[in-house]
Amino acid sequence: MLSRDQHPVSRQLLSPSALKVLYRLNKGGYDAYLVGGGVRDILLGLKPKDFDIATNATPEQIKALFRNCRLIGRRFRLAHIVFGREIIEVATFRGHHDEKEQQDKKTSKQSEHGMLLRDNIYGSIDEDAQRRDFTINALYYSTKDFKVYDFANGVKDVENRVVRLIGDVETRYREDPVRMLRAIRFATKLDMEIEAQTKAPIKALSSLMANIPAARMFEEFLKMFISGKAVANFEQLRDYHLFKFFFPAVDQALDNNDEQLERFIMLAMANTDKRINNDQRVTPAFLFAAMLWYPLQNYIRQINTNNSLPPQDAFFAALNEIMPEQQRSIAIPKRFQGVMKDIWILQEKLARREGKRAFKAYEHPKFRAGYDFLLLRSEIESDNVQLAELAKWWTDFQNVSNDAQVQMVKSIKGPQGSKRRSPRKRRKPIAKPPTE
Ligand code: ATP
Ligand code: MG
Repeated sequence: MLSRDQHPVSRQLLSPSALKVLYRLNKGGYDAYLVGGGVRDILLGLKPKDFDIATNATPEQIKALFRNCRLIGRRFRLAHIVFGREIIEVATFRGHHDEKEQQDKKTSKQSEHGMLLRDNIYGSIDEDAQRRDFTINALYYSTKDFKVYDFANGVKDVENRVVRLIGDVETRYREDPVRMLRAIRFATKLDMEIEAQTKAPIKALSSLMANIPAARMFEEFLKMFISGKAVANFEQLRDYHLFKFFFPAVDQALDNNDEQLERFIMLAMANTDKRINNDQRVTPAFLFAAMLWYPLQNYIRQINTNNSLPPQDAFFAALNEIMPEQQRSIAIPKRFQGVMKDIWILQEKLARREGKRAFKAYEHPKFRAGYDFLLLRSEIESDNVQLAELAKWWTDFQNVSNDAQVQMVKSIKGPQGSKRRSPRKRRKPIAKPPTE
């Protein structure tokens, strides 16, 4: 335990909403502590991303105290207290799952692999600490006595920058395989080392990840790849054989030394990281589109081996193969699927610029993403002169006056422009021979 003057956590560093929740719970007669990233990040001198609270009030008791409260989760029931855009997560202290409790399937349930399908047995604060994942995440700050409670030697591990699982490592990974991802994520985010025993079984247990529902994988995808540390996380995930649970097709291509694909996704991830670290907007759809672009091209080639299909038909046929396959790993919400398709379709649209087409593409709501994607492709396919010219054309197009744009379109003499026959010149259909 650290007294008030032995640690840097103070009320000024908490959000007003987090403080409100802590005080309201205390006033209602319950214990309440700030826990997890909120305490850990302040000890590290960082600004917490969000604030999590642990209490001895049950979800129903929490709900009774707050109007702006939603109870969520089946596997792990907890309360979300909503303050505009900020959500304070309040979890009831968890306890151990013993034989007797395991008979109540609503509160405790395990799969054949030892995965906890329900983790809703309540307990005391010191039991709760043992149920948390890493020692650095099991630190509790009280706004009653301003002390930091350390039940798992987390302070020492924060100081030494070590990510260490609490309890028997294999059991803890089996209970929840996502802890393998979390170990990697905290190590890259906080610039820490994963402790040897915590690290050791990950590769051998990686296949447990196959049991994680696709919806949860989407959440984990966001934390891994849309957090400013995509490149570092990607490299770790590949090392530990965990990347394939996000993008099986990409993982396989990388195993086959598809160098072009590797450079492309690395560049896309590096760009995403740069944008996030500069507080620029990013859409997960862009990274999804980049991950699957070359696998998509392979599908198109396979489907259209002898070029018998119109390109659009081949594209949609390939889409119908690749999307359901990817969805089995990560449940990509519909709105992002739409943007991915737009980005891909724009690659074709940006290439065909004659007549009104360039202006139409320019007005497309996803033009900017499509153009950025084109730039990325041209950077990777540096020997593709046509692609380089196309990228430059669009860069110029955006920087000139409307009149000059009209001129640019007029001066296109691409193969498509000259090949295209006007409808008037089309030959009349040959009359069918009379049938008997
Ligand atoms: P972040 O900065 O990403 O929010 P965090 O440590 O606060 O990091 P959360 O996902 O917000 O992580 O979870 C809050 C706390 O809940 C964690 O610090 C940890 O104590 C506990 N926790 C979360 N997920 C798990 C898990 N899968 N197994 C055990 N404990 C967990
Ligand atoms: Mg958190």
